[in-house]
Amino acid sequence: MSEYQYEQLETLSLVRMYLKALPGGEKEKLRLMAADYLEFRRRVDRFLESYFGSICDQSCYQSRLSACCSREGIITFFADVVLNLLFSEEVEIDTLASVLRQEARGFKCVYLGATGCRWRIKPIVCQMFLCEPAKTKVFRQHPEAESEWLEFERQRKKFTWPDQPVLFDILEKYFISLGCSSPLMYMHQSPGLLRIKQKAGI
Ligand code: SF4
Repeated sequence: MSEYQYEQLETLSLVRMYLKALPGGEKEKLRLMAADYLEFRRRVDRFLESYFGSICDQSCYQSRLSACCSREGIITFFADVVLNLLFSEEVEIDTLASVLRQEARGFKCVYLGATGCRWRIKPIVCQMFLCEPAKTKVFRQHPEAESEWLEFERQRKKFTWPDQPVLFDILEKYFISLGCSSPLMYMHQSPGLLRIKQKAGI
């Protein structure tokens, strides 16, 4: 198991354990906190399907044409894991744990299965990744889509960029208050993100 897999599995198991131990109603409270984020994700999904659905397919990562899903490990925030587990079935979480325990096979992401990503709500970095050839092709044909995409990138920051209180930071704080600690808690450990929070007085 690689270091990446170990960190991922450790965080997955911790979040799963803490979520299971929450008193009644708390999980629902967390799901409600995520409502705006989920709505944002649905809008991005619709956009991607409509403009990129016919371009992005499996042949891309199989031929290694794109960087999409073709690295062994992708950056995942602690909140990515929490959000995914909050809305996943137990069997889906078991599958993630199981692939993390297996030896990584080469160039592709450990989470990539035969029918795509095994996360129900994939990491935000993946959701917002578009390779340059795809962007160039689509935005040349549909200039209006480029401004829509830039607006999505701006909106993403409302959840992930800690120059204001954001969901990704709030979720980390919530788990820290329960005694949980993970190397994926970048909002509380990354010097760059800490500087942004400090500058904003957060
Ligand atoms: S987590 Fe999912 S979407 Fe992200 S790189 Fe891995 S397989 Fe692709």
